[in-house]
Amino acid sequence: MDNGSVKLFKGFRVQYNDARGPNKGGIRFHPEETIDTVRALAAWMTWKCAVADIPLGGGKGGVICNPKTMSEMELERLSRAYIDAIGRIIGPEKDIPAPDVYTTPQIMGWMMDEYSKLKGCYSPGVITGKPLSVGGSEGRGDATARGGAYTVREAAQRLGINLNGATCAIQGFGNAGQFAALLNSQLYNMRIVAVSDTRGGVYMEEGIDPDAIIKHKMRTGSVVNFPGSRPISNEDLLELSVDVLAPSALEEVITASNAPRIRAKIVEELANGPTTPEADEILFEKNIFVIPDFLCNAGGVTVSYFEWVQNMYGMYWEETDVHEKLDKKMTKAFSDVYEMSQDYKVDMRTAAYMVAIQRVADAMKARGWV
Ligand code: NAD
Repeated sequence: MDNGSVKLFKGFRVQYNDARGPNKGGIRFHPEETIDTVRALAAWMTWKCAVADIPLGGGKGGVICNPKTMSEMELERLSRAYIDAIGRIIGPEKDIPAPDVYTTPQIMGWMMDEYSKLKGCYSPGVITGKPLSVGGSEGRGDATARGGAYTVREAAQRLGINLNGATCAIQGFGNAGQFAALLNSQLYNMRIVAVSDTRGGVYMEEGIDPDAIIKHKMRTGSVVNFPGSRPISNEDLLELSVDVLAPSALEEVITASNAPRIRAKIVEELANGPTTPEADEILFEKNIFVIPDFLCNAGGVTVSYFEWVQNMYGMYWEETDVHEKLDKKMTKAFSDVYEMSQDYKVDMRTAAYMVAIQRVADAMKARGWV
């Protein structure tokens, strides 16, 4: 530590299934990290990569620490020590970590450097989410929301909803939520009628200007008190009668108790786990079209995969190339899941698991593992 003392941190790296390719998954720096959370998230990454049909398996990592109380130098030493500890089991052909809760592009830069030192050569393909100057990809910043927007377009087409002028409410206004507001409005001319964060929400019937409210949040720290809007609670926002509802904050916000009052036509699950299994059934019965999280927010890991491909080739794509390739991947993933849901008359989440598990099982069989 900066004061000369030595402190021991506990960390994990879980590799859940690499039948389809090297493991892939983020590293979390969190004071309440547990091995079980990391295990569960590694399994989830396996299904996410499989449903997006990218040739990667599922992994996840974490270190129990509180980055908010650590200096930059301490964070750098911790990041390097973590890589020293797991260096043998990761690598561009084995396991490729990425940023997650409280880990940043800078941390990925240090980790890539430490791994390169261990290997004795520049190895950008060991980790994704790096700064652009050391092999990061164009288009990573908005990839999650962009991928989600492409799936909304596909869902709307199937349901016969015209997105031009359609209404959208977004719960959570961080990375995923802000880009969802920008992209849903820029790409499809949707009207963003409500957004919220931890301090509360705002509503504007005529539509909120995404650029203006992002500036307002940067200036004031929250979306509340946006000029011309009226306040709305997070609970009421979820129950608005809108075309698209995008939970983009936390898990378990749509539950058995509020699901009967949800009136959106499409639920764009940008957050992980926003709908409980009980609520899922209620929404399915109400004919509300849910785009399940590990399909809807797979744009992030897909562009991470593109970053790894570019690193391995040593050739870099323009942003428009990344968007085009992401669109193809998300459109195909959506239609595979949609067809499965139609064929077996199941909801989209069940169908997404069916597609993903089938792909992983096929790979395991082909490799003679089962
Ligand atoms: P973030 O920290 O940037 O933003 C979270 C936002 O949610 C903040 O605006 C916060 O104020 C708001 N929030 C927190 N609690 C809230 C509450 N109770 N009610 C309303 N708003 C609340 O995080 P993010 O990166 O945008 O991630 C959001 C969700 O998307 C998470 O579930 C994450 O796992 C998922 N996700 C993100 C990515 C990505 O690339 N960023 C990829 C896949 C999944």
